[in-house]
Amino acid sequence: MKAFLFFLCTQLFFSQIVKVPTIPIAEIKAYIGKQQGEQLSLLEKLVNINSGTANIAGVNQIGEILKPSFEQLGFKTYWVEEPNYMKRAGTLVAEHSGTDGKRILLIGHLDTVFPKASPFQKFIRHGDRVTGPGVIDDKGGDVVILYALKSLQQAKVLNNMNITVILTGDEEDSGKPIRISRKPLFAAAQHSDIALGFEWATLPNTATIARRGIAHWQINSQGNDDHSMRIFQKPAGDGAIFELTRILDTMRKQMSAEKDLSFNPGLILAGTFINFNKNHFGGEAYGKDNIIAKNAIAIGDLRFITLQQEMSAKETITKIVKQHLPGTTAIVEFHEGIPSMPPTANNIKLLQKYSEVSRSLGYGPVTSLDPGLRGAADISHIAAITQAKLDGLGPLGTGAHSEKETLDIKSLSIQTQRAALLIYHLANNH
Ligand SMILES: [Zn+2]
Repeated sequence: MKAFLFFLCTQLFFSQIVKVPTIPIAEIKAYIGKQQGEQLSLLEKLVNINSGTANIAGVNQIGEILKPSFEQLGFKTYWVEEPNYMKRAGTLVAEHSGTDGKRILLIGHLDTVFPKASPFQKFIRHGDRVTGPGVIDDKGGDVVILYALKSLQQAKVLNNMNITVILTGDEEDSGKPIRISRKPLFAAAQHSDIALGFEWATLPNTATIARRGIAHWQINSQGNDDHSMRIFQKPAGDGAIFELTRILDTMRKQMSAEKDLSFNPGLILAGTFINFNKNHFGGEAYGKDNIIAKNAIAIGDLRFITLQQEMSAKETITKIVKQHLPGTTAIVEFHEGIPSMPPTANNIKLLQKYSEVSRSLGYGPVTSLDPGLRGAADISHIAAITQAKLDGLGPLGTGAHSEKETLDIKSLSIQTQRAALLIYHLANNH
């Protein structure tokens, strides 16, 4: 007992001298709770402005609304534009430099998948839910970032933090080449220890430690346009359609059971003549049932969890393509996509920290989301640059990329509190 009392006294004594900061949980919680209405109104304003990726003026408008709010918090803000020929809006960067702790990168985006002509344009409230374009992807995430930072400023703990916010203007259909459109993201990642992504949370109390990457492929096959009665005979051979379907079906048989790997042929054109238009994902075909098909093309995607899985899948597809039915040839091309974000030990540690933070706020533990349940995102581009990454820190919702896109309003405040407290702990090296 005496020893314990002595311990207690010294602790009290030192905490007086060293001024051990108390964790501002109550302050953060109270502030974010109070701001709920304002946060939701801002989200409504942002959702009601169309910012489909191709609507550059709309994307810029979203950025311009957010910009002064970051400046008020002491952030230096600027746009990084993409060259005109890429036909995309730029990236809004907000930087806060300080002397303390980990350098943290917060990632959101300003664009949505819904073009100006889409019938889905408005923020509509239905009780505890809201539907609207971008309400979770990613305008909901953007307001989580902003209000988390506001709460840290309110608690007077933001001053010495090293934080960069990157809000890209073309996440949904990135300008190509990636090395130009993602330049500000790469630069920020190089100067950050930790990256936090604010895409929506797909399931309650989950976060994302791994995201599958994506690549694109195109397979062209050729046969001899002979009379159909000579098919399977020399020299006519089996034709372009059987060659293409052999390839696709062999891929399905050999590769479809592999965990975390998927590939989907999305379009086929085949016949005597085909005219495939890459930019419109469509085309024309002409063929007759009594002529062996001369040309066939299929396009599709490929999703994978590690670089190794990507390389090995590409190798298998290439091998299958090279085998050829009699009288046919085929080639495969792979096109640039988004790298994967594998589930590293550092990402798992970060999730544990996030889960502790959630518990201390009274919201229970947070577990990792199955990477099969979501696609790639901007954070994937920096998977190999920044050591520790966590995504899905935006609000909870469903139906992203569809006219059913819905936000669970209550989650907005919970996710904002979790994000604020996580940033606080990381910035203080806890
Ligand atoms: Zn999206």
